[in-house]
Amino acid sequence: MIIVLSAEASKQDADEILAKIENAGLKPLYMPGTERTVLGALGDERILQGLNITAHPMVEDVKPILSNYKLVSRELYPADSVVSIGNVPFGGQHFSIIGGPCAVETLDSFRASATAAVKGGAVALRGGAFKPRTSPYSFQGGGLDALKVMQQVSKELGVPAVTEVMDAADIDIIVQHVDALQIGARNMQNFNLLKAVGRTMTPVILKRGIAATIEETLLAAEYVVDSGNPNVILCERGIRTFETATRNTLDLNAVAFMKKRSHLPVIVDPSHGTGIRDLVGPLTKAAVAVGADGVIVEVHHEPKEALSDGKQSLYPEQFSQLMLELEPFIKAAGRQVTQLKAA
Ligand code: PEP
Ligand code: MN
Repeated sequence: MIIVLSAEASKQDADEILAKIENAGLKPLYMPGTERTVLGALGDERILQGLNITAHPMVEDVKPILSNYKLVSRELYPADSVVSIGNVPFGGQHFSIIGGPCAVETLDSFRASATAAVKGGAVALRGGAFKPRTSPYSFQGGGLDALKVMQQVSKELGVPAVTEVMDAADIDIIVQHVDALQIGARNMQNFNLLKAVGRTMTPVILKRGIAATIEETLLAAEYVVDSGNPNVILCERGIRTFETATRNTLDLNAVAFMKKRSHLPVIVDPSHGTGIRDLVGPLTKAAVAVGADGVIVEVHHEPKEALSDGKQSLYPEQFSQLMLELEPFIKAAGRQVTQLKAA
């Protein structure tokens, strides 16, 4: 429930009501605004009704939160949340670009791909160290060695890095090496993993599951935020449909929908969304137009040698060219592209 206090309500009034909510076993939320303070009470709504909060003289209105997700909903927080990975902001007026290879291979190869990505305009790096592969015989990622490579190159280039976490047991070591955790599509409903990343304050890029509805995606984000970590960036990366011409169907409806219903930033992964290198550019432009807060793009210095996802990885020149072509789209969308800050 959302409890709107009257303009005259003091902090003491708010504290009094919050204590009542907490003592009843509900989760209290305090959201001071410029004109009015809004409180939240999450949990069994019948309990709140029993508290007769409306009778308090400083309570102006009590409204239910209609969606099943609460903390990530705009009903509770109407303004855009800005989530930063290192010093790179996602959300609000910003448009930020993450680039890098699918997987971190060797130091030389990651350095070459990452350098190309940053040269083109990426302000954060991507690369998998623990890879969720469909076949157990495919490259599974470089593990700890790959994390070390990421940390070294991210420091050399002065840009933050994100990598996927597949197992809660790896969270501690991963957060010592990179700036953000990715929850991959295959783990979007691994609720124990969601709760575990929720117990950190490290930013989380939460990718939509291949067969997850938008509501399920937002409820997955709710798990992370409810566990204590508000730093969630949603990522539309395509869903599985009857279509076989492309690897996935990039659901841009979901971007517009999630932006409307949730205050969390939403980015787009046109690489996994299409699976085809030549479609990454058009879909990146579409992502800007539909209101995304950024993109995460696979770039490899030599895609034909890539150990995973070479077919959808952009060549360095192709990435640089795309970033140039993207500028007018970003401007037209009223966004500001995040630039690398001079060290
Ligand atoms: C990836 O980012 O390389 C990846 C495996 O993504 P997804 O979970 O979206 O398939
Ligand atoms: Mn990939």
